[in-house]
Amino acid sequence: GQADVQCDMLVLGAGPGGYSAAFRSADLGLNTVLVERYAVLGGVCLNVGCIPSKALLHVAAVIDEAASMSTHGVTFGKPQIDIDKLRGYKEKVVGKMTTGLAGMAKARKVNVMQGVGQFVGPNHLEIIAADGGKKTVQFKQAIIAAGSSVVDLPFVQGAEKADPRIVDSTGALELRSVPKRMLVIGGGIIGLEMATVYSTLGARIDVVEMMDGLMQGADRDMVRVWQKFNEKRFDRIMLKTKTVGVEALKEGIKVSFEAAEAGGTAPEPQLYDMVLVAVGRSPNGKKIAADKAGVAVTDRGFINVDSQMRTNVPHIFAIGDIIGQPMLAHKAVHEGHVAAEAAAGQKSHFDARVIPSVAYTDPEVAWVGMTEDEAKARGIKLEKGLFPWAASGRAVANGRDEGFTKLLFDADTHRIVGAGIVGTHAGDMIGELALAIEMGADAVDIGKTIHPHPTLGESIGMAAEAFEGVCTDLP
Ligand code: FAD
Repeated sequence: GQADVQCDMLVLGAGPGGYSAAFRSADLGLNTVLVERYAVLGGVCLNVGCIPSKALLHVAAVIDEAASMSTHGVTFGKPQIDIDKLRGYKEKVVGKMTTGLAGMAKARKVNVMQGVGQFVGPNHLEIIAADGGKKTVQFKQAIIAAGSSVVDLPFVQGAEKADPRIVDSTGALELRSVPKRMLVIGGGIIGLEMATVYSTLGARIDVVEMMDGLMQGADRDMVRVWQKFNEKRFDRIMLKTKTVGVEALKEGIKVSFEAAEAGGTAPEPQLYDMVLVAVGRSPNGKKIAADKAGVAVTDRGFINVDSQMRTNVPHIFAIGDIIGQPMLAHKAVHEGHVAAEAAAGQKSHFDARVIPSVAYTDPEVAWVGMTEDEAKARGIKLEKGLFPWAASGRAVANGRDEGFTKLLFDADTHRIVGAGIVGTHAGDMIGELALAIEMGADAVDIGKTIHPHPTLGESIGMAAEAFEGVCTDLP
């Protein structure tokens, strides 16, 4: 029969990828429908990810900084934490952002349709509203931006799955209460950001990680600085340790561990008031009836695309978490723009050299491009420019000189190929280095660029100069 709605462009999912794609395609003159199951736009990032976590991390950073002032001669009283008000603040931040998005959609005449979308053909999507009502949209082109979901642990079932003391990142961000003892399963960025928030609010925290180090993907020297600074934050960090069972008891959640490697040792079972499972996210590819449109989905639920973000069905694109790692909002936004522009007939394609990563912990850890560990593993010869923040007037004045800025250069051309910063505000500074890599800047370009003094960003110029200082073959 006749479809209820017809459009040039259908975007499935209103996360950072989806709303960016919908806005760009509307700006390029395509009549656009944006389908989202929830009443608010913004997806994981705005509602239960990037933004609420940063609202809470900001508060944690202020509390920690105030406490650290006593060493500078200023002592504040013990913070009085009104958790309901804090939750309200976080919700206000999220509300402001999602309301802003709704206004932007309206201004562009993007038709936002609420409900769960499922493909019913290569040019048709069925939308099932919360009340069961169904609508069909006929589209000329589509962009799949259905994102990812948290991964559950196989042994968290039944009573344990229903127990409010066992949470995922969404549950942790709800901030219902502050536990006395908390276990974070998974030493990645999301787990450590939430650990930072809850420990500052008063929880005693253990972290358990299967691999041999926290924050996989970051150079170990940065993680070492982070871990040393955070020693007192944790009761213990259990590396190379597998969590093998959880049991919901009245007195707490009993968690058992096993060594991840043969011959290793594991701690005795422990009791916790709250357990955060932060072991990764999996793509939603298998939940949208993609096969009905002929779109291929991998066993793991990812959708493969070409550099224009086209799936195996040329008029259907896919972007964001659903197409693969790294699962980051800024990657999804960029891909959304590429897909919308390609759909509108432009020659856009994804040719970013690098995608920066940031852990918004205290201190922050940020990196972009190649890491030293990666270069070593691949046998690539790099040169390094290192600037320890102990030599930065600003970092010392801030009382936070534990960090460093590290630039990695191609040994032959001296062009920058990677960078890492550990220290306060590292995330705000890594963009300059992404730009430097994209522009093919070399050590001289960066070192001779005048950075304002005294700033933390100055450390970037200094790191390049430190490298030049040891070079004899520069012009
Ligand atoms: P999503 O944001 O997952 O959006 C997909 C949308 O599609 C959702 O709204 C979903 O409801 C909707 N949807 C799915 N299926 C259907 C369907 N069948 N019908 C209708 N609607 C559907 N990234 C960063 O870059 N920086 C950070 O600081 C950061 N912090 C994070 C903190 C946490 C706790 C978490 C969990 C994630 C964080 N991320 C961060 C990752 C970031 O949230 C994701 O990379 C980003 O949201 C991916 O965007 P997306 O558009 O691909 O999908």
